[in-house]
Amino acid sequence: MIDYKALLYDCTPLEVFRRDRKEGALSHAYALFGDDFDAMDWIMREMVKIAVCKEGGCGECAACRALEGGVHPDVKFYQGKLDVAGVEEIVEDSGKYSVEGGRKIYIISELDKTLPAAQNKLLKTVEEPPDGVMFIMGIIKPSAVTETLKSRCKKLYYTGVDQRRLEEALSAEYGESDNVARAAAYAGGNISRAVKFAADGEFAMEADNIISLLGSMAKSGGVAREEIRLKQDKDHVLRYLDVTEIVLDMIEKYKRGLTRGSGGISLIAKGFNHAALAQCEYLVNDCRKRMESNCAPSAVLDTLLFGILEVKYKCR
Ligand SMILES: [Zn+2]
Repeated sequence: MIDYKALLYDCTPLEVFRRDRKEGALSHAYALFGDDFDAMDWIMREMVKIAVCKEGGCGECAACRALEGGVHPDVKFYQGKLDVAGVEEIVEDSGKYSVEGGRKIYIISELDKTLPAAQNKLLKTVEEPPDGVMFIMGIIKPSAVTETLKSRCKKLYYTGVDQRRLEEALSAEYGESDNVARAAAYAGGNISRAVKFAADGEFAMEADNIISLLGSMAKSGGVAREEIRLKQDKDHVLRYLDVTEIVLDMIEKYKRGLTRGSGGISLIAKGFNHAALAQCEYLVNDCRKRMESNCAPSAVLDTLLFGILEVKYKCR
């Protein structure tokens, strides 16, 4: 297990949250923005400890132990899509007295998966919750959350982990290697992604292949060569889709000035504008759906590679 505490304990959202607590200025609603579900989950659980424990998250008192065991009666976690009925349950529950006599906290870890109608139902309670009630909500896709709901929360931004620290943590878990070093470089600060890379010895190599393909692919001959090279079974094509998505995301982040563009990303980024990247991302999602509905892996790979070739051609 990667040491999340070592990587995240002093991240900006937690520093802001600790300061708010110290100043007695905790807000009744926080929205945590970021792109790493597992890291955000850790941060939100730590926020709960800071808010509930009398020592601000000692990790040893009865409250902290109850939280770690997931059995604190006044803290409720909601993951995945929430519907209107689910929100009504939260609204009703928030009006009841706290069992331990302290704060009541509701953590909605993927608010962006909650339907707009349900978000609207939540609005009034988030705006003016009963005394002692706090909402902590994770948001990966900001556009999927209504502006009004976002505006009622104090916003915290999680922007990922420094590459050097990520490499240290990965090396402690997987040993030092070229694959680990590149996993840290390619992950763009995203811990879950870095772990996925580091745990799979061929991941970095596959990313290198895709980067070189995206850079050079100009004619259908390049596609044919790639199809010959790749194993076209289900597992390999699914991984190819994963890595392609990650590489596209790295290009996007580089273009928005969020990362340095290691491993050849800066070179191939010129060949893609934002519209082309969006079309490629759509293509990857479409291919994943095809895999789910049991299309032949070789046909899906064909759709992906020729699709990207077409997008690149139009992008010129
Ligand atoms: Zn404690």
